[in-house]
Amino acid sequence: MSHGAGAVIVDRAILRGAPIRAVSYLQPEHEWDSGFALLSGPPDSAAETALVCLQCIIDDHPEIAHGLDQARQHGEAIIDNAGGSATTTRIRPDTV
Ligand SMILES: [Zn+2]
Repeated sequence: MSHGAGAVIVDRAILRGAPIRAVSYLQPEHEWDSGFALLSGPPDSAAETALVCLQCIIDDHPEIAHGLDQARQHGEAIIDNAGGSATTTRIRPDTV
């Protein structure tokens, strides 16, 4: 984690090549934490996770940059992989 952009919680399935389906964002509590989590399944689904540097994730998955912006604003973003960078968002009831 030398990029210094903060760590992202990433579903290990994504690291194995699964598409990113959801991004969630919580206010970071630590300096090393970006606040983001990436999931290959629906939000709140259980997943084995790993910590990956945010800059590396964006380098590997530039298509999710918009989803990250959406998640930062709304708490969560659902990635529509069929539509490329298109995303829809919904507001997490527990973060408003
Ligand atoms: Zn990195």
